[in-house]
Amino acid sequence: MKITGVETLHLRLPDVAEIADGTQDVLVVRIATDTGHVGIGEVTSQSYVCKAIFEAPRSAERRHGLAEILIGQQVDDLDRLWKLMYYNTNRYGRRGAAIHAISGADIALWDLLGQARGVPVSELLGGARRTTVRAYASLLFGSTPAETARLASEAVDQGLTAAKFGWEVFGKDPEIDEAHTRAAREALGPDRDLMIDVGCKWDADTALARARLLEPYRLTWMEEPLSQDDRQGYSDLCADSPVPIAAGEGDVTRFDFEDLVERGLHVVQPDVAFCGGLTVCRDVGELCGRSNRRAVPHCFSTGINLAASLHWAASMENGDLVEYCLRPSPLMRKLVANLPPLIDGRVPVPDGPGLGVELDEDIIAEFQVHYPES
Ligand code: MG
Repeated sequence: MKITGVETLHLRLPDVAEIADGTQDVLVVRIATDTGHVGIGEVTSQSYVCKAIFEAPRSAERRHGLAEILIGQQVDDLDRLWKLMYYNTNRYGRRGAAIHAISGADIALWDLLGQARGVPVSELLGGARRTTVRAYASLLFGSTPAETARLASEAVDQGLTAAKFGWEVFGKDPEIDEAHTRAAREALGPDRDLMIDVGCKWDADTALARARLLEPYRLTWMEEPLSQDDRQGYSDLCADSPVPIAAGEGDVTRFDFEDLVERGLHVVQPDVAFCGGLTVCRDVGELCGRSNRRAVPHCFSTGINLAASLHWAASMENGDLVEYCLRPSPLMRKLVANLPPLIDGRVPVPDGPGLGVELDEDIIAEFQVHYPES
């Protein structure tokens, strides 16, 4: 099965708000082969930049575009293809947008290999250990503790058994933080999982004090309490925190995740459409299994990302949790025609060959950004 075409589709809502919502603007990748199979991937990053990374022509050594690198290659050994992309973008890549773009190509290649072999991607990743994965929803804190409690009650009514709150009023004042955490815990009841996303607001000392303050509310994890670059801070915090510490949505390649695990992080959160794709996620999952850590997919864009995350989570022994995005954007709700639904707090893992998802061509036509011919 030889690659004959690499296409990117930039999909964007008419109004993109400047908020941390990856359902507004995405880059879909389609890779065609001489067997007639077409693999689908997604990049959640700066779509204009990542599209250019696909389309850049051949240049001097190790500075090519991804389409140039992939066309003509056999889809056989996906580790070989990942290394080929990584090596041949090395002079401008290694981290950042080049790896985000590689994520989309890599997801599409796993989709292709699954289709060609007639098995779901979870099978290629070692086999599904479950047919559904438990979901958690990410919610913004309310403006008051009562509002936070109301949002938590809604999550319970939707059947969710886990919810994460973040941003807004949280992080500036210990008393306010505790009041909101208590409100969320009381509304969720004693048995559901509660996570807090701090949004990189603190230093290690502040984070440790807050972890001790909030420990009685039994947080499943405290997410990104520190800057993504405060690596020493994570080392110090993870050694002493009574609450598990999570991070990694901004990290790429297995090298970044090896560093986080070495620093003692308890929960790592790669985003498959950002971190380097399923090849990186598979390696991170194996690393977490060996290191007695937990990997939970960060997933907040389209159903392509969700499907890839589900296959990965299903293949991990300690993988029964996935982030489930409830945003109303048509790029989340409708781009994948057979979007895996939320049923009683769980999400079915697609069981068709490859990723097992189909795109709605009407949604593509409605939201595709058309670039002028150059
Ligand atoms: Mg987060």
